Amino acid sequence: MALESVNPATGEVIQRHPAAPRDEVDAALAACAGAQRGWAELGFAERGGPLRTAARILREEREPLARRMALEMGKPLAQGAAEVEKCAFVCEYYAEEAARFLAPEPVATDASKSFVCFEPLGVVLAVMPWNFPLWQVFRFAAPALMAGNGALLKHASNVSGCALDIEDVLRRAGLPKGLFRTLLIGADAVAPLIERPEVAAVTLTGSTPAGRSVAARAGAALKKTVLELGGSDPYLILEDADLERAVETCVSSRLVNGGQSCIAAKRFVLPESRRGDCERLFVERMQARRVGDPLAPGVDVGPMARRDLRDEIHGQVERSLARGARLLLGGEIPAGPGAFYPPTVLSDVGPGMPAYEEEVFGPVAALIFVRSEAEAIRVANDSPFGLGAAVFTRDAARGEEIAARRLRAGSCFVNTFVRSDPRLPFGGIKESGYGRELGPFGLREFVNVKTVYVA
Ligand code: NAP
Repeated sequence: MALESVNPATGEVIQRHPAAPRDEVDAALAACAGAQRGWAELGFAERGGPLRTAARILREEREPLARRMALEMGKPLAQGAAEVEKCAFVCEYYAEEAARFLAPEPVATDASKSFVCFEPLGVVLAVMPWNFPLWQVFRFAAPALMAGNGALLKHASNVSGCALDIEDVLRRAGLPKGLFRTLLIGADAVAPLIERPEVAAVTLTGSTPAGRSVAARAGAALKKTVLELGGSDPYLILEDADLERAVETCVSSRLVNGGQSCIAAKRFVLPESRRGDCERLFVERMQARRVGDPLAPGVDVGPMARRDLRDEIHGQVERSLARGARLLLGGEIPAGPGAFYPPTVLSDVGPGMPAYEEEVFGPVAALIFVRSEAEAIRVANDSPFGLGAAVFTRDAARGEEIAARRLRAGSCFVNTFVRSDPRLPFGGIKESGYGRELGPFGLREFVNVKTVYVA
């Protein structure tokens, strides 16, 4: 079996990587477990050194890394460069903060001394998606490594070049040999790995079905999991909002990474009283974005990452139209060999339609009109997912109240788009998964929270 990298802008096969044979995987597991034992003995300052070096290498090699992403999964170069910068930031952030976040915490009890300390779990297996091929990995790896763990990466099969780049950056940054390894394996090789005694925990970022399958295997093996899964983030524009600014932000969030982001805005919950302006603005702004070759300057939206994924999006659009949605823009597959899909606007989206019920992982805006704020909140929460949500209003206090107390999601933003930030915890509820990445919470996912009690 081989893992294929295909340029989604042209359909050309860039490279075929043979899947790693069993003995290679065994050797990587053993080496990672061995390296982790030594790494766990080091202090935070020593662990931080290679991560700071990795940040420097990432910045120096921003262009080739962004180019690899463009070629393997279609991300426009400028967005790829920004992603590389964010990876450098997360490495520096945890190199700087891990000692503080993982400092032992004294607890007053009947003991002469009692405290909580944090120790690494061991080797963590990371199953990662192609949509932010570098960021998804670094946001897991930087805290996991700083906490003293080792890491094995099973990346998505279409971004093996990116996966090898990451391993190479971390090796050159001076991590102990074997501590971070990329395994070029297919999804079917994940389950047996989870059961291996060397693997202490598993994290998966990807679709809900993949999360369900990995969590079931890890559950049977009694191994800790963190799951970052899909989303169908609602963006509520209230009647009093600055409509032009709100729609501009909504469209940016819908189209980032070609719409292939777990926290892209996906469902737009809009006031019926402003229907005409909302529909006009969404069409104008979606139409204004430039679609094209991700290597060309000034392109906003590249191709979808794979043709099968593009066809899946089109199927969701067609089934939504068949169930009563109205097509305002796009909705047709362009001719040509690439995996392009045009910015598409669907109006009158409602229950029973894929654009309402499912995650649409592409540049498709689903407009849902409601008659009251209460209905807007009900519709926003009427989803199997709970990753992010945003609300737009001129009344900041009202926005805060809705964000903090009414919307059911892991991250709720007011008057701006949902984003991940190394300093803030990130994750979901319901079918969007569980556990948190980033911030102090992310650092504490793969540690043993240990009580020490001295009588
Ligand atoms: P995917 O098909 O679930 O793949 C993700 C990873 O899981 C890949 O490495 C894939 O390997 C592997 N995989 C798939 N099925 C598996 C199984 N049954 N057992 C073990 N591993 C399995 O997802 P995707 O299409 O790459 O990514 C898009 C999805 O990821 C979207 O739903 C998106 O919302 C979600 N996502 C979530 C977050 C978040 O933070 N919540 C962030 C980014 C993306 P192969 O490539 O070899 O199949």
